[in-house]
Amino acid sequence: MCNEKISDENLQLKLEDPIEYYLKNIEDPEIMAELRWEDPYFYDYILRLHFINEMQNHENIYRCPECRGNIITDIDSGEEYCTCCGLVTRTHYPYVAGQRLMLDYGLK
Ligand SMILES: [Zn+2]
Repeated sequence: MCNEKISDENLQLKLEDPIEYYLKNIEDPEIMAELRWEDPYFYDYILRLHFINEMQNHENIYRCPECRGNIITDIDSGEEYCTCCGLVTRTHYPYVAGQRLMLDYGLK
């Protein structure tokens, strides 16, 4: 096993915050293969965390799901909407008169 490639900074992170360390190096097949061999349960845990992170990142919508136009945030209302077709993708008020807004069809 060769650890010479790991820099001091990386090694320190590995000791202090192994979760952060492996999430940072998740694209490194050598490091991940080593973890999988040494601690398969922790390896699974890291993959799950990575998956959750990915899902959360996809929540940020910058393209309109309908027309691929740009999504901008209205400063006054805080609503996010498409500059092309006016589709509202997110608003601070998810409920109107007790009924959940159908954001998919909410036009500005
Ligand atoms: Zn649009």
